[in-house]
Amino acid sequence: MTDKDRYQRIYAEIDLDKIRQNVKNMKENLVPGTKMMAVVKADGYGHGAVPVVEALEPLAEISGFAVATAEEAFALRDAGITKPILVLGYTFPYSYERMIRQEIRFTLFRTDTLKELSDLSVRLAKDGLSQKAMVHIKVDTGMSRIGVRPDAEGIRFVKEVFGTEGIYVEGIFTHLARADETDKSSAKKQIALFENFLDLIEQETGRRIPLRHCANSAGILEMPCADFDLVRAGIALYGLWPSDEIKQDAVLLSPALSLYSTIVYVKEIEAGREVSYGGTFTAKKRMRIATVPVGYGDGYPRGLSGKGFVLVHGKRAPILGRVCMDQFMIDVTDIREAKEGDKVTLVGRDGEEQITMELLGGLSGRFNYEFACNIGKRVPRLYIKEGKPIFSSN
Ligand SMILES: *Cc1c(COP(=O)(O)O)cnc(C)c1O
Repeated sequence: MTDKDRYQRIYAEIDLDKIRQNVKNMKENLVPGTKMMAVVKADGYGHGAVPVVEALEPLAEISGFAVATAEEAFALRDAGITKPILVLGYTFPYSYERMIRQEIRFTLFRTDTLKELSDLSVRLAKDGLSQKAMVHIKVDTGMSRIGVRPDAEGIRFVKEVFGTEGIYVEGIFTHLARADETDKSSAKKQIALFENFLDLIEQETGRRIPLRHCANSAGILEMPCADFDLVRAGIALYGLWPSDEIKQDAVLLSPALSLYSTIVYVKEIEAGREVSYGGTFTAKKRMRIATVPVGYGDGYPRGLSGKGFVLVHGKRAPILGRVCMDQFMIDVTDIREAKEGDKVTLVGRDGEEQITMELLGGLSGRFNYEFACNIGKRVPRLYIKEGKPIFSSN
């Protein structure tokens, strides 16, 4: 068996050159001087956090990385990544010491966390550790998820943080709930609340926190007023769109991920024959159908049953009946050249036709973010870097 043999059943091809180009294109759309953090949570939105980060770390355009959990941050440090890493969510106390030692930035919004971090940081300093706990204070301006409110109580929290030993306040940030809508009034309200809060902090403490940030991809693409000192680029890195209300003309983005399989069986069925579990599809005429060895066990949504399609020889082949855990059937009656061993495009381009994650996300009742994150561990990844293929070991 060679490396390539494992890629016959299904593989995801991830073009790292496109991700780098997407970064450069987004950067041109930012207020000059704005830094950019690459969001690589959930294994880089299913694209593979370590290979994506290794491709991005050398770029001057990228000042650091953001993840959702301590483990995701540790995995990047283990891979030798030295640029700043911020954990965007709450972290549990067991991870504090390792995070401080590895200079992984905390998202801070709880008084008990502040106290625990400070106690630990002071204790580690006594043992000779030079690093402090580096934090970004989270402000809730409308998500109602995590963060302190931008009010008098919020100011008290910020002052308390400033006055606590062993803590370095590197950043402060908020998150936009509705920047991906055409109507930006809600996002603008959040930005105004954030800005007022930052002003108030400066007035009351005389301090300016170095990294103030709020923009996600939607903010980067359509709201220059959201840039501040730093932006957090997630979905757009991968060439995917935050929503269908975002105009696709301001920044050129190319989808980095394609998903391919191979036809493993072709046969004819007569009128009246049912296809797949539940018999939800019955042939009305004689048909040629093909079996694709991919299913929801690979993260290919069962919600595409009877709705989705794939590309074979540059033509659309509709899915017949239910998607099973590991296989599904397609109609190749009108694709006469289709035969066993032929390439099947599940996501990506074949000739004139293209299947996007936006389209499949919509058809399956997921959305593109969820579609990308759910591409399973069973799917080997093939990376393209500087035009050359790299086979991964997973
Ligand atoms: C996921 C996330 C982002 C990135 O959002 P995209 O819409 O993917 O750009 C930015 N900030 C926070 C706090 C997030 O949780």
